[in-house]
Amino acid sequence: MRIRQLVLLSAYLLTDGGISSKTEKEWTIYFRNKDANIIREFQKQLFSCCGKKGYITKRKDGTDFVRLHSRKLAYRLFELSESYRTKACNEFPICKHLKGKLSSCTLFGTIKIDDIEYPKAKIPEPVFRSDKLAKEFLRIYASCDGGISVIPAKNKKGSKFLVRKIFISVKHPILNNQITELLKKIGFSPSQYKDQVRLVKKEDILKFAKDIRFIRGSKISNDSKFLSGFDKNFILKQVVKSYNNPKNLLAFLQDIRASSRLIRD
Ligand SMILES: [Zn+2]
Repeated sequence: MRIRQLVLLSAYLLTDGGISSKTEKEWTIYFRNKDANIIREFQKQLFSCCGKKGYITKRKDGTDFVRLHSRKLAYRLFELSESYRTKACNEFPICKHLKGKLSSCTLFGTIKIDDIEYPKAKIPEPVFRSDKLAKEFLRIYASCDGGISVIPAKNKKGSKFLVRKIFISVKHPILNNQITELLKKIGFSPSQYKDQVRLVKKEDILKFAKDIRFIRGSKISNDSKFLSGFDKNFILKQVVKSYNNPKNLLAFLQDIRASSRLIRD
């Protein structure tokens, strides 16, 4: 198993996946997503680590669920991050270690931040030693737990402008700090919020489009009212173009809004 492949696999698991256990001998690596392109890339990554693609099941809500039983792979991954759960232990669904069952917290302990107990999830150290790996890691992380948003707005005088944002949702305080640090290390100036890290400056958005981008074919999720279903990299490209000529993107966004209003009416 090459370390680089494992590190990239960890980016998927820290966002939309995890490692769970029944007994000390039975560990399951799992990942869920609604986006078929992201599922395919995850399975490729899994295959490059262990020669298996895992079992895939479809949930009623349209989510694909991939799982692979492998104690060996689980323990290799724990060397990179001692947990892949990124919610506080007492958040729903409650961490198994609080119910007296086995979880990564049972093995490696937890960490208290502002009196809240968190699993020991972190960004693997090799990510901080290579800018190339950092960019690949962030591409996966931002594709699974992040995205791009662009909203038309009006100023007081009535002229229209665009509010552009690339965001990474990250609630775990350690991961939130590390994602911010990592972006700074490779030349970005991110804005840090309690549960998000954002890129809003022109230079940062242009640099993201040049150096990172999203996983090819990944789509904007249902969280976005108007852009849901659009290719993230397509919208990123339009946002980049809009710095020279905002009119096209403004018209495009207005068209989408008008047609979604027609559908609703
Ligand atoms: Zn826990």
